[in-house]
Amino acid sequence: MPRIQQIIDFLEQIAPPALQEDYDNSGLLVGEPHAEVDKVLVSLDVTEAVVAEAVALGAGLIVSHHPIVFRPLRRITGRNEVERTVMAALRAGIGLYAIHTNLDNVAHGVNAMMCRKLGLEGMRVLRPAKGTLAKVVTFVPHSHAEVVREAMFAAGGGHIGAYDQCSFSHGGEGTFRAGAGTTPYVGSLGEQHREAETRIEMVVERWNLGRVVASMKRVHPYEEVAHDVIMLDNTHPSAGSGGVGTFAEPMDWDAFVTMVKSAFGAPMVRHTAPPKGSIKTVALCGGTGSFLLPDAIRSGADVFLSSDFKYHEFFGAEGRITIADIGHAEAEGGISQWLVDQLAEFQLGFPNFAVLLSKVRTNPIHVS
Ligand SMILES: [Zn+2]
Repeated sequence: MPRIQQIIDFLEQIAPPALQEDYDNSGLLVGEPHAEVDKVLVSLDVTEAVVAEAVALGAGLIVSHHPIVFRPLRRITGRNEVERTVMAALRAGIGLYAIHTNLDNVAHGVNAMMCRKLGLEGMRVLRPAKGTLAKVVTFVPHSHAEVVREAMFAAGGGHIGAYDQCSFSHGGEGTFRAGAGTTPYVGSLGEQHREAETRIEMVVERWNLGRVVASMKRVHPYEEVAHDVIMLDNTHPSAGSGGVGTFAEPMDWDAFVTMVKSAFGAPMVRHTAPPKGSIKTVALCGGTGSFLLPDAIRSGADVFLSSDFKYHEFFGAEGRITIADIGHAEAEGGISQWLVDQLAEFQLGFPNFAVLLSKVRTNPIHVS
């Protein structure tokens, strides 16, 4: 039986926690990481009804997109749904884990799921993340360049978009003088040594820095490993907010609305004036997406598909794009099934481990 922490480690490979927004509260919210579970229930939200479902199914962990605890709880007395849900989970010994804006902010997460539902191709991130990349440079004798490079790749270094094992190397000469008490790999104590070295550099996501530098040092032959860690100002090509993709065949507004309603199970679409021509490019963001409207307009998209737009925010379209609000739960609902599918890979290592999709309707909004 896997421990909760093993499930978390797997999910955090998919969506690194470092990518969550400052205001968010993703991660393990209730429960002990070392607890063993043989069943996981996946849901968009956690409510009392979802916890009751987990109890009935014997699931020891609920993985949800939205965190049940979002603001700090100063007391837990059961006066509202959040407190009662947390109490029910604690009472039943059920863990609650949320994978929220970190899953919004990876290109293969919520936005890719929405693009697939619409049949959009060539998705790119609408607002690529900043402050996520670093460069690691090291200097190593030619003989060890290959093993050092491979160790850095294996620890997660050298990813650029859909490419991996990206690095740059060139040769040069290093100098050093070994001081008292050292045992240099080459050269003699107290004498300047010249060594033909390879300079290796590669891009590393900041959340992988510790691992990459540690792996590099482990196989590097020098006692003191000369290396630079440089923070980059570059944006991340496959992390950030929202997505934009194109249809292979443009479609008219009526066909688009029909398709959107059926793909997302949306009872209605609230929108600004439809585009004059056909729709080729669509920008999207699952949850509250109004903050991305300027990026959606700049991307040249015909439609911005999102949710939670307020009355005055619709005016922001300015006739330059059509805002289409399909509802929050409708836009993101498909992510639960996607998480179940992802966890199937984790299941391979644990034959008696089950992943179940919640059948509870958590959406509090009804359309009449
Ligand atoms: Zn959401």
